[in-house]
Amino acid sequence: MHKFTFRDNELYCEDIKVSDIAKKVPTPFYLYSYGTLIDHYRKLKTAFSAINPLICFSMKSNSNIAVVRALVKNGAGLDVVSGGELYRARLAGVDPRKVVYAGVGKKREEIIEAIDFGILFFNAESEDELEEIQRCAEKYGRKVNVAIRINPDVIPKTHHYITTGKGETKFGLDFETAHKIFNMRWRYPNLRIKGVHIHIGSQITDALPFQEAIRKVIDFLNSKRIEIEYFNIGGGLGIIYSVENPQTAKSFARKIIPLIKKMGVKVILEPGRFISGNSGILVTRVIYTKRTPRKKFVIVDGGMSDLIRPSLYEAYHKIVPVKVPHNSSDTAERVDVVGPICESGDFLGKDRLMPQVGRGDLLAVMGAGAYGFVMSSNYNSRPRPSEVMAMGKKFYIVRRHETYKDLVRGETIPKVLR
Ligand SMILES: *Cc1c(COP(=O)(O)O)cnc(C)c1O
Repeated sequence: MHKFTFRDNELYCEDIKVSDIAKKVPTPFYLYSYGTLIDHYRKLKTAFSAINPLICFSMKSNSNIAVVRALVKNGAGLDVVSGGELYRARLAGVDPRKVVYAGVGKKREEIIEAIDFGILFFNAESEDELEEIQRCAEKYGRKVNVAIRINPDVIPKTHHYITTGKGETKFGLDFETAHKIFNMRWRYPNLRIKGVHIHIGSQITDALPFQEAIRKVIDFLNSKRIEIEYFNIGGGLGIIYSVENPQTAKSFARKIIPLIKKMGVKVILEPGRFISGNSGILVTRVIYTKRTPRKKFVIVDGGMSDLIRPSLYEAYHKIVPVKVPHNSSDTAERVDVVGPICESGDFLGKDRLMPQVGRGDLLAVMGAGAYGFVMSSNYNSRPRPSEVMAMGKKFYIVRRHETYKDLVRGETIPKVLR
């Protein structure tokens, strides 16, 4: 459930009219519901309470420091994938013992920053990386926890761009190499290699691939008699964008807990989209409409630079008018909702049945809380949008929209060209 609801044909976020926020904040803007974020986090926490896991919110899905702070304040840990995310995590006041760090290309400076902060775990993805972490840890006279990310080679049945646990992807290590590493732990005197990590992909709506991956890891550990303290089962839980029927936190937990409970290990979860996805929308305004011999276009002020998922993954986002006009079903027609960017791939939705809308009307692009703002860019020299967080009857601008000055910050014209 999420707290974007219609009352008398008007879209509300929590207890505020979205149209009222749009009077104070220029469009397009992202709007997050604090209550929804926390509710989704708690749902997972409750569902898994039998094994009391550490839930590390995957910051790459939404790294706004207010969003991250909200979750941290409610007890969440964080899954980071870069030095920049670690920086944000620190600003959000996270307990370092609740931070895990994944990614195939951690650089030396990033590793040192994470060691210095005292994170719980590095999720290591190659032997080169292990050597690098060992070298850094030794230099700073520290012992650091490492989990080996295993690529369990399962097919999660999701978009190939967000598949990570198949053998051919760049993520993790195969079982054989993982075995070798566990056998040669002595090679890394400053590392405590005591965990296993998997993350098989994103927007996975069925528990089966998760079960398969977990079983494969358990079989591997048992057959090689490898003992671990931590099992990080990653994120990837799917959500409803349109007609999906994803597993609920409860049904997911019911299928996963029995597999893991008997291992007697500490479990880590890394949900991103499950927590943030339906906690946010993109609010955009109709600039023009136009009819061509083939189609009707609704041209809005938000585009692929603000929300790239439709262009990049052909992702579906429901699009609804913020005020539903009366007799809306009579006037409904098929339209393409497109942005102002000079690319044919710049669309938010295609062939959508929508009540008639016109210049100045507000539209809400639903389910935009994950991989929305974080993937935004300045393409076409478009300042990036504001981010707003609603809490009950109040709202807070948690990132102001960029200005033209922001666009050129850091750029200089060399003297010879002046
Ligand atoms: C992206 C990512 C996640 C979160 O994925 P979601 O599909 O948003 O839940 C978790 N763990 C790792 C290592 C990731 O790269």
